Amino acid sequence: MFKLDYFSGGVYPNPNKNTLFYPTKRLNQFPVVRIPMSMHIGPPCSCIVKKGDQVLVGQMIGEPTKEPSVPVHSSVSGTVRSVHKEVASSGRSVVVAEIESDGHFTFHPDVKPPVIHNRNEFIRALRDSGLVGLGGLGYPTYAKLQPKEGRKFDTLVVNAADSEPYITADFRQCVDHPDEIIDGIRAVMRYLDIPVARIGVEKNKPQAADVLLYELEKVKHTAGAHTSIYLDRLPLIYPQGAEKMLVYSLTGRKIPSGGESGDVNVLVLNVSTVRFISKYLKTGIPLIRRRLTLDGSALRTPCNVNVPIGAPIPDVISAAGGILDEEKDSVKIILGGSMMGVALDRADASVIKYYRALLVFGKKEAEVPPEAVCIRCARCLKACPMKLVPATLDKMARHKDIEGLEQYHVRDCIECGCCAYVCPAKRYLVQSIRNGKTHIKQARIKEETRQ
Ligand code: SF4
Ligand code: SF4
Repeated sequence: MFKLDYFSGGVYPNPNKNTLFYPTKRLNQFPVVRIPMSMHIGPPCSCIVKKGDQVLVGQMIGEPTKEPSVPVHSSVSGTVRSVHKEVASSGRSVVVAEIESDGHFTFHPDVKPPVIHNRNEFIRALRDSGLVGLGGLGYPTYAKLQPKEGRKFDTLVVNAADSEPYITADFRQCVDHPDEIIDGIRAVMRYLDIPVARIGVEKNKPQAADVLLYELEKVKHTAGAHTSIYLDRLPLIYPQGAEKMLVYSLTGRKIPSGGESGDVNVLVLNVSTVRFISKYLKTGIPLIRRRLTLDGSALRTPCNVNVPIGAPIPDVISAAGGILDEEKDSVKIILGGSMMGVALDRADASVIKYYRALLVFGKKEAEVPPEAVCIRCARCLKACPMKLVPATLDKMARHKDIEGLEQYHVRDCIECGCCAYVCPAKRYLVQSIRNGKTHIKQARIKEETRQ
């Protein structure tokens, strides 16, 4: 039996899981939604509706053009008010369909459970569902289900770690829908012929582990049930939920530099993703809603919400309780968690498929301390779970040293933020390393156009 092992590096930020025991509020009161045609990694969809069209819930409004891509569906019923370009919350300039909701949420007649007999139909159905990884990166799930040539998945790893501070959306998913999570895991194992599944839950969320174990016990006695589903309680360390760390912690396999989990025969799915799969197989309702954690010092009532995709972020914040009066003019909104999230630079952006949290911080936390000179303390080196040398990468990125960045494996950086978190000089390490990756991409494009 494999003995659990843990990765080196990592940090111990305050978990700030303030919303663990607040039931999720389902919010629908949005007069208008703005749905971007790109909410995934991959080529954007082509918008197939126009101003004045009537649309229904679950109707496809964005069609994939090239692989890997997933369709976009309407999250409300109503009238298309405009189709225009804008900078979405993903930071990219994309085509957006603005839809005025009629408030009735009438479903499109095509929304019905998919008919699936085999692996290919399962993958095709997940593509049609518009599903992307709900753990934060937005890669189309159907594309992840197809291992590379010569590889076969032998283990499904389910990420229920919720290791990033503040975020409790996945915890709530476990507590509210443990049956659907186990059902989704079994469906993936069945259709993809994966013999073993391992669920990873951090130790500070025993309630999530308990309800999942209870469900597992129940299905043991079901005919044809996969019983090779295990649950492991993981130590509390960030970034336990990052794919490479989780795979190592749960299987002992090291994903090679530049590689992915499929290289070690492991498929990793987020707990919300497997729950969605279960629900979609039963109802055929595509990915049109998102569960989000709303937290931060400037909010009146931290909570979890379930909102239609495309709901304007300011409206979501107001509907969930709003911002404290004294913080109104100075808030900083982060999409995602406090370690890996990105600051929102436009107030009227909308909810997209893959962000799990909206953090609203007040004046004190919104202040970015000035950078000081690196004192070569090596704290960033010790904290890096990928065993990179952040201070050197930072220097190289600032000097656009492409060769050096490649030699020091900049692309293995998972942008977890551990280095910046421990840095006494408050260096903008993640930002700088991210720029380094962009320099490499740009240099490649330049080279290709020269050839
Ligand atoms: S932690 Fe900051 S100050 Fe220390 S070596 Fe790294 S970059 Fe330099
Ligand atoms: S270099 Fe990248 S992977 Fe390493 S700690 Fe910094 S952000 Fe995380």
